[in-house]
Amino acid sequence: MVKLQCVRGTYDLYGDAKRKTKQVVAAGEQVVEKYGFEEIETPIFEFTEVFARNLGDTSDIVTKEMYCFQDRGGESLTLRPEGTAGVVRAFISNGMQQNLPVKLYYHGQMFRYERPQKGRQRQFTQFGVELLGADTPQADIEVIAMAYEFLEKLGLAGQVVVEINSLGDSESRNAYREKLVAYLQEHFDELSEESKNRLERNPLRVLDSKEECDKAVVENAPLYADSLNEASKTFFNKVLNGLDKLGIKYRVNNRLVRGLDYYSHTVFELVTDKLGAQGTVLAGGRYDGLVEQMGGGAVAGIGWACGVERLAMLLDETPEVVRPIAVIPVGEDTEDKALEIAYALRRAGLKVEQGYSGNLKKRMIKANKIKACKAVIIGSDELAKGMVTLKDLDSGEQKTVVIEQLIEELK
Ligand code: ATP
Ligand code: MG
Repeated sequence: MVKLQCVRGTYDLYGDAKRKTKQVVAAGEQVVEKYGFEEIETPIFEFTEVFARNLGDTSDIVTKEMYCFQDRGGESLTLRPEGTAGVVRAFISNGMQQNLPVKLYYHGQMFRYERPQKGRQRQFTQFGVELLGADTPQADIEVIAMAYEFLEKLGLAGQVVVEINSLGDSESRNAYREKLVAYLQEHFDELSEESKNRLERNPLRVLDSKEECDKAVVENAPLYADSLNEASKTFFNKVLNGLDKLGIKYRVNNRLVRGLDYYSHTVFELVTDKLGAQGTVLAGGRYDGLVEQMGGGAVAGIGWACGVERLAMLLDETPEVVRPIAVIPVGEDTEDKALEIAYALRRAGLKVEQGYSGNLKKRMIKANKIKACKAVIIGSDELAKGMVTLKDLDSGEQKTVVIEQLIEELK
């Protein structure tokens, strides 16, 4: 027997749910294109090392979430779990460093093997942006403003908070790391097994842990802000001042670190309390070392990605659907004319439905069911005079119209 369900953690997206995700992507595109970002589409799978080497070998994604497989040629490939590594790979492979800054956006399916729950799927969609080759705070401000405007466009600005933190430059990061490791070692026995392992390889990740026992330890951990050097502090303050100037409200969250290894300086998340544990709808940050680490030049980068389904779940209203016009032939001898008229109306830009069978009564019932706004009824007597009946399905009013004037009447 063939199994007829979707694989766990994957869903068929259609109807209202699909309309909403489409609306999210459309809003994202409209906003980021105004900022000069252009779309890029990278392959859905890459060589495994594109992700394994660059997301950090202690990240959740690399240690337990990737869909890796060997293809028939023996290559180890991975379904993309996120967008940045692939976009940066494309940036380098296509020699885009020649013309900086480069501003790219993408949307598409991502794959992560994790425990499915509300707002957490194994196949999901991200919409994201990457700004490469701009290392000033202005870039951070612009990229965050863009995220904010995007949520505003979806009517969600009032429901989310911008949480922001700075991880500083590598000097600050190392200084903090030392302090944190010393602190965590004092509390070693209280940590989860996973965090005990991370302590060696990437202690920052402990701050990001969702385990209750870790959270309790993290509560009193040294604050990142105390380890930032002057240059990093100045950078961060410029970002915050810029957000103030634009009137974008934020909350500095000293515990925010982000799951991947490549971040530096500004990290941020847009968070809502409406989705339970899956409250982060958009997340991003600066990743100045990534391009170089991947084998490109020393090119700065900053970007964000949002979970399209998570955002769509926040939209209360179903996007409006354009109501169609029903074209209804009465009797077989008017069917050809109905086809012709429907074709002409569609080519004039109107949304038209023609029932595929049935008498007048059945077709009228169908027209109401699909919420048609008007019906063009084609009877043979009128047709002989070059006319049709145009009926308003809301008011019930109807009149006869010369076929040549039909488009005019409907527009
Ligand atoms: P989380 O802490 O929720 O696991 P993350 O840090 O793994 O999030 P990112 O890699 O930063 O998430 O991805 C950016 C955004 O993509 C998230 O804020 C979220 O909205 C969305 N996202 C991430 N994983 C999933 C998933 N499994 N299902 C649906 N959306 C997701
Ligand atoms: Mg995750």
